[in-house]
Amino acid sequence: MMAVFLSSKHSDELPMASTDFQTVLEEIHQEVQPLIGQGEVASYIPELACVPGHKFGMALLTCDGQMFSVGDAAERFSIQSISKVLSLALAIQQVGTSLWKRVGREPSGSAFNSLVQLESEEGIPRNPFINAGALVVTDVILTELEEATQTVLNFVHRASGVNDIAFDDSIAASEKLAGYRNVALANFIRAFDNLDNEPADVLAAYFKHCSIAMSCEELAKAFMFLARNGTGITGEELLSAERTKYINALMLTCGTYDAVGDFAYRVGLPCKSGVGGGLVAVMPREFVVCTWSPGLDKRGNSLVGGHALDLLTSKTGISVF
Ligand code: GLU
Repeated sequence: MMAVFLSSKHSDELPMASTDFQTVLEEIHQEVQPLIGQGEVASYIPELACVPGHKFGMALLTCDGQMFSVGDAAERFSIQSISKVLSLALAIQQVGTSLWKRVGREPSGSAFNSLVQLESEEGIPRNPFINAGALVVTDVILTELEEATQTVLNFVHRASGVNDIAFDDSIAASEKLAGYRNVALANFIRAFDNLDNEPADVLAAYFKHCSIAMSCEELAKAFMFLARNGTGITGEELLSAERTKYINALMLTCGTYDAVGDFAYRVGLPCKSGVGGGLVAVMPREFVVCTWSPGLDKRGNSLVGGHALDLLTSKTGISVF
């Protein structure tokens, strides 16, 4: 067997130690300017359509606690599907790997709100980050936890160390009025006996989780446990290191709708996006970065956010690859 050693010269040149993240973020902020306002703000949830399309924020928090940010990084927005990562963490805490009897772990290759695969795959959603999968995860939480929805919010408080993060009831109500596809998904899954609770109850909880309002800086804090082997920003162990690995892998393979291949290629980090225009990415043992820009590309990911993350990993040379 041949041992291969990095020369000391090479290791001195490893990018992380010397990276001036504030300067990199400011460069990115400049470079994405021509793109800001492009893409479509999600309008199928009527209340989301009111968000100004020109917003852009980016925050990067290193594992040793340094926060760098630009633009609207302190402004709260609707995290939408980003909440699916946090509810998954709670569900795995409760039921462990038995969750995978009810939800798969493969990319779907189809839209996040698609009904098509559920028919041929007998009500087992492909993964926990498409809507169907998140509905099953929500069902697990409702069964396992008293005050389940409040427990999700408490988990966000514990993970971020920010206690005034809240649901946005007007967003949840707006989605409830217009969420016909999710209603169809929940009923369809129930018909396959993969929901234990009433579809209406699962949907009400799911819409609340999606409505949580947070800023880029708060999301970077809340996701820090995924970069620190399960230990959150306050030092609390929120998840085991093993389960943290599982969630990061799922974000890389399933976190950006049916554009996961493109995101792995361009960004090279586990990511999760939401139709509110947020994107969170984790560089394990190094940092968490979050972007917000409401204009979405054709697959529902933030157009400017994806570009900004591509610039970050290309400029710094830091990615999981
Ligand atoms: N609440 C949204 C929905 O169910 C979340 C979608 C998303 O952010 O991907 O359609």
